Amino acid sequence: MEQVEQVEGKVIPKAIVDEQAAAALKRGYLWVYGRQIKSWEGSPQAGDLAAVSGPGGELLGFAYANPAAALTLRLLYSPAAGRRGPDGVPDENVEIARKLDRAWSRRQALQLDSNARRLIWSEADGLPGVVCDQFADVLVVQFFTAGAERRRDRVLDWLASHVKPAGIYERSLGPGRVREGLPPRQGWIRTAPGCPATDAVVAIEEGPLRFRVDLAAGQKTGFYLDQRAARRLLQAQRLSGRVLDCFSYTGGFALSAAVAGSREITAVDSSAAALRTLAANAEFNGLKDRIQTVRAKVFRFLEEAVARGEQYQLVILDPPAFARSRDQRPRALAGYRELHRRAAQLIQPGGWLLTCSCSHVITSRDLRASALAGARDAGRALKIRSEFGPDQDHPEKSQVPESRYLRCLFAQLG
Ligand code: SAH
Repeated sequence: MEQVEQVEGKVIPKAIVDEQAAAALKRGYLWVYGRQIKSWEGSPQAGDLAAVSGPGGELLGFAYANPAAALTLRLLYSPAAGRRGPDGVPDENVEIARKLDRAWSRRQALQLDSNARRLIWSEADGLPGVVCDQFADVLVVQFFTAGAERRRDRVLDWLASHVKPAGIYERSLGPGRVREGLPPRQGWIRTAPGCPATDAVVAIEEGPLRFRVDLAAGQKTGFYLDQRAARRLLQAQRLSGRVLDCFSYTGGFALSAAVAGSREITAVDSSAAALRTLAANAEFNGLKDRIQTVRAKVFRFLEEAVARGEQYQLVILDPPAFARSRDQRPRALAGYRELHRRAAQLIQPGGWLLTCSCSHVITSRDLRASALAGARDAGRALKIRSEFGPDQDHPEKSQVPESRYLRCLFAQLG
């Protein structure tokens, strides 16, 4: 740092943000883009803590900064944290532990009927860029931002001493890290005696099911923990007919449909690795005879299934994010509507549709409208029976729309 700002004595850089960013931060929003920063006092390095003030000079909080990233400031602490720290600067030893303690006690209060859960969920737990999932006695961590990377050891030390896992596996990869100028990092980082550190597959339990989770080759941290609420809903149905699980990944929904009674389930995914794990999961649960896997592109599969005149009691759609930014929204909506049209053609009268979207750009209203329009295009009536999001171990911060990403609809076709 060359030039510096004094916050009651201690020196940290300070960003002065424009009116619009200041108003958003006052409403509880947590992000500031580079173009919203009017000036800097001091020159922060990637990951440095910075004070954030409005154009009038009022302190709005403390953020970590990455001047090289378009999303430049992510708010970490309120102005109160400065008052608690020495010299008016938050004491990060205390403040980070405080956030981790809160995330941990929130999770311990939940009854999830599983030994797998999300322990830390980025902004929603006040720790932007930090994700931690627990899979039985192993943790998977991800650090996505320069600010998170800088605080990595503090987080790991806290996890090792409070959660006492057999091992911690890191999956810090992907475009988020590239945007922050960080290299990918993957592998076991902390292992206690007895940790299967050469192997990166762990078994978890959830309700009546067991799943294998491939920490190294699986998607995200290995398993879609966020869809637990949807799995629970499926398991509570009474299914006697055929089920089609589109974008099945390792079979969370396909296996849940088997628990609900279906004896004929088809799981479709484009990933051979995901389908191999799905088959292993089916076997693991004694459900092998009920589930067949098909490696295919879903749009194509649906088209051919319609042409063959297939009918299902339940069709599940859980595609990857169709839109990652606002400008991709119109295309994504068109894609969803078409997906819903094809699914509706395949659902028997009185049958069910479970449809999900995992992009924050697609609102619940969008998903509802798309399901209704797609059904209408197929000449079918659709009645929405329930709407929900991720399970409780994935808190959402209502002031940060980007943290509300997963929406699910369970609907019945007339
Ligand atoms: N329903 C799953 C999660 C789905 S994630 C669960 O609950 O675990 C999305 C899945 O879609 C991934 O497994 C990915 O391999 C698959 N996928 C992406 N594009 C696809 C396409 N065009 N056709 C088929 N599968 C696709």
